[in-house]
Amino acid sequence: MTRKDRTEGIYSRREVLDESERKQYYAIQLKELLTYAYRYSEDVKKRFDRAQFNVDKFKTLNDLKHIPILKKKELIFLQSMGPRLGGLLTKDLGELRRVFLSPGPIFDPEDRGEDYWGWTEGFYSAGFRTGDLAQVTFNYHLTPAGLMFEEPLRNLGCSVVPAGPGNTNTQLEILQKLRVTGYVGTPSYLMHLAQKAEEAGLNLRKDLYLEVAFVTGEKFSEKMRILLEKKFDLIMRQGYGTADVGCIGYECFHTTGLHIANRSFVEICHPDTGIPLKDGEVGEIVVTAFNKTYPLIRLATGDLGYIDRSPCPCGRTSPRLGGIVGRVDTTTRIKGMFVYPHQVEQVMARFEEIKRWQIEVTNPGGIDEMVLYVETSNFKREDEMLHDFRQQIKLRPDLKIVAPGTLPPQIRPIEDKRKWD
Ligand SMILES: [Zn+2]
Repeated sequence: MTRKDRTEGIYSRREVLDESERKQYYAIQLKELLTYAYRYSEDVKKRFDRAQFNVDKFKTLNDLKHIPILKKKELIFLQSMGPRLGGLLTKDLGELRRVFLSPGPIFDPEDRGEDYWGWTEGFYSAGFRTGDLAQVTFNYHLTPAGLMFEEPLRNLGCSVVPAGPGNTNTQLEILQKLRVTGYVGTPSYLMHLAQKAEEAGLNLRKDLYLEVAFVTGEKFSEKMRILLEKKFDLIMRQGYGTADVGCIGYECFHTTGLHIANRSFVEICHPDTGIPLKDGEVGEIVVTAFNKTYPLIRLATGDLGYIDRSPCPCGRTSPRLGGIVGRVDTTTRIKGMFVYPHQVEQVMARFEEIKRWQIEVTNPGGIDEMVLYVETSNFKREDEMLHDFRQQIKLRPDLKIVAPGTLPPQIRPIEDKRKWD
């Protein structure tokens, strides 16, 4: 059987809008959403009024920042505030298609419209094509994942084995007997399937027929991608989204980051103030999906990322999230500034003389002190490095140069030794 071409093609015209068309598209979508939400969502009305945000004055994308961000954690409380999920919904629960319950616990409404969760363009981008038989290994009970990922497959003309999680031996049998071509699930479960199949003496390339995998829900390393792609001889791409809003971004064949879905407007903001940051700066991913039923305007996801607007060889013009680099609540804050290990790494990588590094934070007398340990010999570019560090991290560390081999073998990039009593 010849394989399908999974590397080319674009699902929707919206994915290739030029810059001015895209800005205009976002502005129109947002204006419509804000106007509708203000009128029909009690919660949105309250929120806008409290912030003295006047929908009629929304003219450009810049005006969005005047609406306070909505932290995901607030949803639990807000949803308990009365009918229609505390006024967050613009219609009654009985008018919806489904209501799920995610850990938190947060209710996730699903309306009856076409492509409600918005993953179809992402599945096409990942390489799913008409005629695929896909095994969905996400949970179908209470949480939306299983059914959420059936929707794009149906839209693309694929067929689904609603396997759910677990029963690995049965899953392997199905993959083999039905010659399943697509996998949908977490990367770690695909790894688990691979291990079990190999233990059972199966040849992953000859006895199984997987050609494409869509993964999400976990941190997914490049190492794991390369390993699994090679083992199965398949294309493995990831998506990024939440149970509240559905699809936020997805990879294309070229793995240049996550193309932002055309159904939403994404900002990268300072986690405390909600003020949008510049392209390339790391901050909280704040998403406004163009969803009139459940208008979560400026939902702060708690995930950290940055925007990359460089062109992508696939031809899609949507900006990209350059990976999800961490979570807001597990990030170290030093002297009131967020310090992200990967940003420090970016600076250190410019100096090949630096073998390893570690930041140690203490707070003698209640004031943060930051020491940057650098393992190197003959380092002559201290000033340049400190300058770059300050540019990137906005803080000045005490630098301690130590001989190679001084730092313990296993180290955390940021060792937080502060005491809080
Ligand atoms: Zn691309």
